[in-house]
Amino acid sequence: MAVIMDGKGLASKIRSSLAEKVNKLSRKGIRPGLAVVLAGNDPASAIYVKNKKADCAECGIESFEYLLPDGTPQGELTSLIAELNANGKIHGILVQLPLPRGLNEAEVIASIDPCKDVDAFHAENVGLICQGTPRFLPCTPAGVMALLDEYKIDPAGKHCVVVGRSNIVGKPQALLLLHRHGTVSICHSRTPGLGSITRQADILVAAAGKAGLITGEMIKPGAIAIDVAMNRNEQGTLCGDMVFDEIEPIAAYITPVPGGVGPMTRAMLMQNTLTAAESTMNGRPVRLCGTSPDVVQGSTRRRY
Ligand code: NAP
Repeated sequence: MAVIMDGKGLASKIRSSLAEKVNKLSRKGIRPGLAVVLAGNDPASAIYVKNKKADCAECGIESFEYLLPDGTPQGELTSLIAELNANGKIHGILVQLPLPRGLNEAEVIASIDPCKDVDAFHAENVGLICQGTPRFLPCTPAGVMALLDEYKIDPAGKHCVVVGRSNIVGKPQALLLLHRHGTVSICHSRTPGLGSITRQADILVAAAGKAGLITGEMIKPGAIAIDVAMNRNEQGTLCGDMVFDEIEPIAAYITPVPGGVGPMTRAMLMQNTLTAAESTMNGRPVRLCGTSPDVVQGSTRRRY
C-alpha cells in the first residue's frame, strides 16, 4: 500500500507560511500583487482564475483580474501587458493559457517583463532554469519537487522517468530532477515500448494528459508515482494518467488526482509572486540574473 502524497495539505501549509511573509513585506510598504489575464470564455480557465484569486486572498497578495472578451485583438492584449509591466503595484503577471484562437501565445509570453513572469514561461526565464540559475521555478515541476522534499525523497542517483515533453511540464520537470542529480529519461508520444521504460523508474512523473495511460504493470515495485495530469474520464470525473487502483498497491508513494500536484502548482505561483515582490525596490523590478547555482545544483529545498 503506497503512501498517498497529500498535495492539498502541503499546499495549505505553504499558503499559511507565505501569508506571514507577505504580511511582513506589506508592513515594509511592498504588498505583492498578481495580475491574472483571462482572454475568452473557456469555463475551465475561468475556474482556474477564480481559484488563483482565492489563493491570493488567503496569502494576502493583491489580485488584479483582467477579463478580455473572445475576439480581443492581439494588439489590445499586448498593450494591456505593457501597462501591467509598467505598473509598480503588480509584481507578477499571469496570462491564462491556452489563449483563444487568433491570439499568438509565443508573442504574448515574450511581451511579459521576465521579472514579472511568475509562470516562468518567458525565454529568458526558461534559459535561466536550463542553466540551473532560475529566477522563478516553473510552478508545476516546482510543486512536484516540493512534494518530493516534503516526503524526504531525494532524486539524487534515482532513475527519474518523465512522460511528456511539453514546455510547461515535461521539459522543466526533467531539468529540475536533473539538477537534483536524478538520472532522467523523457518519454513522449513517439516513444516505443513506454512500459519498458516506466518500469525502470524509481520516480515516475506522468504528464501526458491521457487517462489510463499508465497501468499497474508499467510500475516498478516500490516506485514513487507522481501524476501531474488532469483529465476527465468517460464519466466526466477528474483523473490523472495513472490507473490509481492498480498502481497504489505496487508503488511506495503516489499522488492522488485531485489533491496531489494541482494544489501544489497554485501554491508555487503564490511563492513566485512573493519572490517577484521581494526582489522589488522602489516599485521597480530588480534585474538580477537568476539565483545562485547552489539553489539548483545543491538543493532546491525551499523554506516555506
Ligand atoms: P501537452 O502540452 O499536451 O503535452 C503532453 C505530452 O505528453 C506531450 O509531450 C506528448 O508527446 C506526451 N504524450 C501524449 N500522449 C502520449 C502517449 N500516449 N505516450 C507518451 N507520451 C504521450 O500537455 P501539458 O500541458 O504538458 O499537460 C500534461 C497534463 O498535465 C495534462 O493533463 C494537463 O491538464 C496536466 N497539467 C496539470 C497541471 C497541474 O497543476 N496538475 C499543470 C499543467 C498541466 P508529444 O510531444 O510527442 O506530442
